[in-house]
Amino acid sequence: MRMVNGVEMDQVMNQKKSSSFPSASKSPVSGTRPVSGTRILGIETSCDETAAAVIEDGRLILSNCVASQVELHARFGGVFPEVASRQHIRTILPIIEEALQQAHMSLGEIGAVAVTRGPGLPGSLVVGMNTAKGIVLGSGLPLLGINHLEAHIYSAWLAVNPPQPLPPEPRFPLLVLIVSGGHTELILMKGHLDYERLGATLDDAAGEAFDKVARLIGLGYPGGPAIQEASASGDPRAFKFPRAWLEGSWDFSFSGLKTAVLREVRDLQRVYDTLPAADLAASFQAAVVEVLVGKAFKAASAFGAAEILVAGGVSANMALRGALHAQADFPVHIPPIALCTDNAAMVASAGYYRFTAGQQDGLDMDILPNWPLIEV
Ligand code: ADP
Ligand code: MG
Repeated sequence: MRMVNGVEMDQVMNQKKSSSFPSASKSPVSGTRPVSGTRILGIETSCDETAAAVIEDGRLILSNCVASQVELHARFGGVFPEVASRQHIRTILPIIEEALQQAHMSLGEIGAVAVTRGPGLPGSLVVGMNTAKGIVLGSGLPLLGINHLEAHIYSAWLAVNPPQPLPPEPRFPLLVLIVSGGHTELILMKGHLDYERLGATLDDAAGEAFDKVARLIGLGYPGGPAIQEASASGDPRAFKFPRAWLEGSWDFSFSGLKTAVLREVRDLQRVYDTLPAADLAASFQAAVVEVLVGKAFKAASAFGAAEILVAGGVSANMALRGALHAQADFPVHIPPIALCTDNAAMVASAGYYRFTAGQQDGLDMDILPNWPLIEV
């Protein structure tokens, strides 16, 4: 996978001014890869990552290119929607071209185009959607609109090529915990594309809580990695922050925890010049991880799940990964770190399973900025 920031993509754009965008009518560019399997071109622009990828048969990553805008938004302390939208416009074509080149293929070897339809920022989603429509209009390829949460789930099916063998697929029924910047959901997945929503956050998403608490204790953006880093030298028992178990439901709540950190920070600031950021971060992280893991395992037992799958940006958290792998009750699937945050490989993977199930969307497909997984 190649991470490319906005500045580098400007260079890519300039270098490629003379190159033409690959079309379906052209012959394959490489000729090195035998034509077999179904290749999906995935496109993701739901938030602040512009991403494109080519996946074979739902699981094999042939290319996975992500242009992160994180540095652009850092000065705002969060994603600035209009800046995100404009940056997607600048980056989307070079990143798609890059994904095709890294996969050594033209659109002629692609079976369908899968694009994130929602949920996400409207101004960001439309860039990917309209680009995908332009590609299918010019190439005649089938178009698939993909739910971003479903895409996060399918990141657990992906494997990097070459050369490792495909890891075993997650087994159903699967207890799925999605923890990202915008969502925290517990889902029972009974088979491919078949979901029952058990619970969700009533207020902040887990990633949102990481981002807000990082700001409260003076750490950088994005907050999740900053809190993880600060926690490494902190004591998770230094502060007794509350755990919202919400007994009798499968829902989550993180706003009480966030308020508890705020109160602690204000009390500390009255007495000390500098905050014990490492201890605050470690204690906050421990509270989030304990509830996420505790509820996931309880739900897995209650619903007779065969395995547990955790996906979304917060699943990159090492404390969470450690706690999940520390038990022996359920096999746990967590995507590799690089596939936890937003990427297009996961969109293409979900696209493959939807494509083989017969889905095909029309050119009149609109974005759905508030699209719940359960309505897919
Ligand atoms: P969304 O799809 O909602 O935009 P992503 O799936 O891209 O979100 O995840 C981004 C979120 O993941 C951010 O809130 C970020 O703070 C959080 N995150 C990323 N890495 C970590 C980490 N190591 N620990 C905790 N949270 C993390
Ligand atoms: Mg995401």
